[in-house]
Amino acid sequence: MTSDAVALDVSDLAGRQVTVAGLGVSGVPAARALRGLGASVTVVNGSDGEPQRAQAAELEALGIAVRLGDGETLPKGAELIVTTPGWKPTSPLFLAAAEANVPVWGDVELAWRLRGEDAPPWLAVTGTNGKTTTVRMLAAILEAAGLRTAAVGNIGVSLLDIVLGDTPYDVLAVELSSYQLHWAPSLRAHSGAVLNLAPDHLDWHGSMAAYAADKGRIYEGNQVACVYNVVDPATEDLVRAADVEEGCRAIGFTLGTPGPSQLGVVEDILVDRAFVADRQKQAQELAEVSDVNPPAPHNIANALAAAALARAFGVPPKAVRDGLRAFRPDPHRVEHVADVDGVAYIDDSKATNTHAAEASLGAYEHIVWIAGGLAKGATFDELVLTAAERLRGVVLIGADRALIREALARHAADVPVVDLDRTDTGAMAAAVREAARLARPGDTVLMAPACASMDMFINYNKRGDAFAAAVQDLASGRGPDDQ
Ligand code: ADP
Repeated sequence: MTSDAVALDVSDLAGRQVTVAGLGVSGVPAARALRGLGASVTVVNGSDGEPQRAQAAELEALGIAVRLGDGETLPKGAELIVTTPGWKPTSPLFLAAAEANVPVWGDVELAWRLRGEDAPPWLAVTGTNGKTTTVRMLAAILEAAGLRTAAVGNIGVSLLDIVLGDTPYDVLAVELSSYQLHWAPSLRAHSGAVLNLAPDHLDWHGSMAAYAADKGRIYEGNQVACVYNVVDPATEDLVRAADVEEGCRAIGFTLGTPGPSQLGVVEDILVDRAFVADRQKQAQELAEVSDVNPPAPHNIANALAAAALARAFGVPPKAVRDGLRAFRPDPHRVEHVADVDGVAYIDDSKATNTHAAEASLGAYEHIVWIAGGLAKGATFDELVLTAAERLRGVVLIGADRALIREALARHAADVPVVDLDRTDTGAMAAAVREAARLARPGDTVLMAPACASMDMFINYNKRGDAFAAAVQDLASGRGPDDQ
């Protein structure tokens, strides 16, 4: 249950019994913040290992109770649950809470409710892929306009820390995941964007419809602009379904020529036909395609979405160009690692779902593809069908590799496939060696696994690092170490 129709108010948390579901990046700041507001806080966490005990000791020193090893039972007297994003809506704790009529808020909901009277507006971004990139581009554009801003939220900066901190901001560039949106019923952003919608995290949400509905919450109560993707009609449907402030506009972005109320591309120029005096007749130049780093199609789309949100906030065209020029992509996102023997090695470890992998597979002509990991309920037929013609070969690793192997057998039977049948960390080095064997000069070895990494690595960063290390070994002639 995500009810906000409860009598609990943030100004009224002193002495209240609040349960925080989960430790970690957002649980710990939430527990601290709630304790700071005088609440009586209990953190519950299913696992009970060394790192959790260390975190628990720190929290207990602040007067916060921590229950390790039981994340399911509702603590006695709980009046509110504040959850971290990883917890599924079907978790027994939430079912028990619903039964007892105890509301559940996410960390974003709590931050939204705690922000002060003259708090900075939020420009919010969600979507299956491109969130982090777009939010960083947006922050760079806002900075170029001389505004005090930060890229926050799901990007790894706790909104609670920002809302409760002393640093003053004019506006925030906020990345929101579908999990966070699910538990943030009263969020009302200045403007919001859904970049794209493709099946992902369906094991968490239960269905595509539920996933889309949670993403669509970003548009609720928008004041100036709901930004959608013209080639992804599902995003426009979400705008239509949203209840927004009077006068709020639907703004599309497209890689084609923009219509009225859209941003798009005309002859290598990013143009704005939305935030101009006469959108029927006028278009405003914002930047050149070559100002976008890297200028791959999906990234130009991200730049247009960032520009739309910035323009909705009143940022001048020049700041869009300056901001895009200043932007540097985060690691593991279509990152060029090295050229070895005429073959380019690209780390797109952040391609943790099929939609992201499809974008990067679409950017190269002849590809040896390293794929596999945790599929999270995805199917691979469509991805394999779109990429088949470009594939020189495929190397498979990870727990759910059979799903990809079967899709390849169905739709790309001629493409050589090496199934490493391994899920150990060292498998990446072997995968790089096999890929090098399959590649010809001029080809690209692309590690865009279309799967999550946690079967083999702590996270996608470590997976990308392992790939890069193996490529460096290859380049230095040491030969990858495949233990
Ligand atoms: P997110 O924060 O949504 O995970 P990132 O910006 O970190 O997004 O990019 C994640 C992955 O998605 C990268 O592998 C990148 O290649 C791919 N990607 C980025 N933007 C898009 C887009 N607009 N459409 C499809 N894939 C994209």
